[in-house]
Amino acid sequence: MDITKIKNAEATHYMPVFARDSLVLERGEGNCVYDIDGNKYVDFVAGIATNVLGYNHPQYTEAVCNQVKKLMHVSNHYYTAIQSQYITRLCQASGFARVFLCNSGAEANECAIKLARRYFKNHGGDKTVLYAEGSFHGRTLATLTVTGNTAQHERYSPLPQGFDSFKYDDLDDFKRKLTNNVGAVILETIQGERGVRPFSKDFLVNAYELCKAKGVLFIVDEVQTGMGRTGKLFSFEHFGIKPDIITMAKAIAGGIPMGACLATEEVGTAFSRGDHGSTFGGNALACAAADKVLEILQDGLIDQSAKLGEYFGEKLAHLSKYDFVTDVRGLGLMRGIELADKVPASTFESKLRDKGYLVNVAGNNTLRLIPPLTITKQEIDGLIKALDDVCDEIRA
Ligand SMILES: *Cc1c(COP(=O)(O)O)cnc(C)c1O
Repeated sequence: MDITKIKNAEATHYMPVFARDSLVLERGEGNCVYDIDGNKYVDFVAGIATNVLGYNHPQYTEAVCNQVKKLMHVSNHYYTAIQSQYITRLCQASGFARVFLCNSGAEANECAIKLARRYFKNHGGDKTVLYAEGSFHGRTLATLTVTGNTAQHERYSPLPQGFDSFKYDDLDDFKRKLTNNVGAVILETIQGERGVRPFSKDFLVNAYELCKAKGVLFIVDEVQTGMGRTGKLFSFEHFGIKPDIITMAKAIAGGIPMGACLATEEVGTAFSRGDHGSTFGGNALACAAADKVLEILQDGLIDQSAKLGEYFGEKLAHLSKYDFVTDVRGLGLMRGIELADKVPASTFESKLRDKGYLVNVAGNNTLRLIPPLTITKQEIDGLIKALDDVCDEIRA
């Protein structure tokens, strides 16, 4: 199939929601993807922080293929050994007692919101959920409502009720909004879609303590920051806090669609039979993939990526010497480079692509760097060199 045909089919038949790059990707190997003409790109997008093991990882591919041959899907009406093995591993690794498995980040957050509401019903009645301005939690109606994007809110009104927002990283505003009507708070420790924007440690720790004191549920969306991305299995571990609920997706099964909502015993048992469900959620194929991802992460990949993440941060920091680089931020292998308005991040993106590196643009003119956790020092050095070269070209 030629490239024009491929693009025409999408233009004709796909609902026109995506602004796509011109590349047509065909296969991947290690930390690289290849386009249809055979050009190779080192991948600092990784399917948006999803392909943590890169491409065609031997143990992962073997585990997935074996599971395909054995059993891919049966109803949650039945038990499977692989689901049981995975939820045991996940709960042990995370320290949470209860899990619900679904298929995406939005669904995981939808589950968290429903679980919180169900919990309020058992504890004195209806309460509201607070979310942060600038957040991204998904595209279902409820998760869109807790996503701090007012343009999107207008497009899809009327929205579900029972939500209110607070200003990003503003503890005074948070205190004002944390009224007795609030039952839960949802936030990302680092706002990924907004351009890798971290909350301060001070905000997170204080907001958490305030919630604890008031009996307000603290929900951390780890969809992008989870699974070793920031140098720990979950990003909340950096702050010495223990959320009541966390959500995951993206990297959880290394590229096979999956999401999870984890909760403490007390909160996770607010649901009872029939309260929630999913046809595909936690099916045998997704669990086999997720189980292998978690096993490999625990077998040293988190530690390795934590070290490389620090190295990556140090190397990137020196880019602030260019006057059009306005901020370099992030944690572990989740980094953002914000550029001055006069230098569009999309120009950077295409110049890097021409040099064999994929990066993407998130939030306000920010390049987002979220490679596989299997990325190597050489590949990082290569990207740094390419970034330096692009900066020099732009300065010239
Ligand atoms: C990507 C993302 C989501 C939504 O996940 P989907 O799988 O696209 O539904 C939710 N929260 C965060 C923080 C994300 O990065």
